[in-house]
Amino acid sequence: MRAWVVHQPGPMATGPVRLIERARPEPGQGELLIRVLCCGVCRTDLHLAEGDLPPRRPDVTPGHEVVGEVVEAGPGTVRFRPGDRVGVAWLAGTDGSCRYCRRGAENLCPRSVFTGWDIHGGYAEYLVASDAYVHHVPDGFSDAEAAPLLCAGIIGYRALRRAELPPGGRLGIWGFGGSAHLTAQVALAAGAVVHVFTRAAAARDLALGLGAASAQDSFDDPPEPLDSAIIFAPVGGVVPAALAALDRGGTLAVAGIHLTDIPVLNYARHLFQERTLRSVTANTRGDAEEFLRLAQQLRLRVTVTPYSLGQADRALADLAADRVSGAAVLSV
Ligand SMILES: [Zn+2]
Ligand SMILES: [Zn+2]
Repeated sequence: MRAWVVHQPGPMATGPVRLIERARPEPGQGELLIRVLCCGVCRTDLHLAEGDLPPRRPDVTPGHEVVGEVVEAGPGTVRFRPGDRVGVAWLAGTDGSCRYCRRGAENLCPRSVFTGWDIHGGYAEYLVASDAYVHHVPDGFSDAEAAPLLCAGIIGYRALRRAELPPGGRLGIWGFGGSAHLTAQVALAAGAVVHVFTRAAAARDLALGLGAASAQDSFDDPPEPLDSAIIFAPVGGVVPAALAALDRGGTLAVAGIHLTDIPVLNYARHLFQERTLRSVTANTRGDAEEFLRLAQQLRLRVTVTPYSLGQADRALADLAADRVSGAAVLSV
């Protein structure tokens, strides 16, 4: 089968990813063999390719927004059978026994493994995934539309909850790509007023089209103080701006797995008056279930920029250069 691998992490211009031929994997105990139909291109894949995230195994196949069809159910699988349309997301396994797992915070499990980082992901024709960590794909979405729900959507949903947005509150969003454009719709459906901050003009247009109250450049002042904010851009430099934009008691959540360094903060301008800065780390399977149900109920509109499997390197380069509208998705 064809599969992309991260061979030599570095800037996209240096060609860090390669398309290779590899044997089709076999499903082990509790695993499903899945034929990939579509795989979303997440910024985390770019961080892995460019070396911002240290590789956990050589020549790993990236991709953790996989919509596929089960072709073989290994021994001990109980949830899915051949022919089912399924989704494979970032969280691929946990120990189920540590203090975090036991208190319902499996997203913090120190022994968790991740799709497309510890185990081969969906930039390929097939992958295997643990039956217990695979998701039902909601109806009403094409394969390409469903793919970005599986990380961009789920992580954005967790970030929104971590941002403690009050009912009818004012939400600021920094960066407006795959994750943000889904999260904004969830917030708007709950009655929020959404203000978007991004340097990309096409992303500002997309935000306004989806119902954002305003869209401006990353470092522009907010039109009004914010109750909550989420940073999706991997840019630590916007943290002080987002904190300064918060009203008293406001909360800023940083959604990404990687952020460049945060500049020195000033206590009075950025944190006093009980403003809160918090991170978002992966997700639980419960987050995923809740979000996928909500995506179907709200009929989220997914904006997709399509690529073929053979164009994964181009999709990553376009993501790096802010040339993707909504979410990039590979069709296999
Ligand atoms: Zn654990
Ligand atoms: Zn992701």
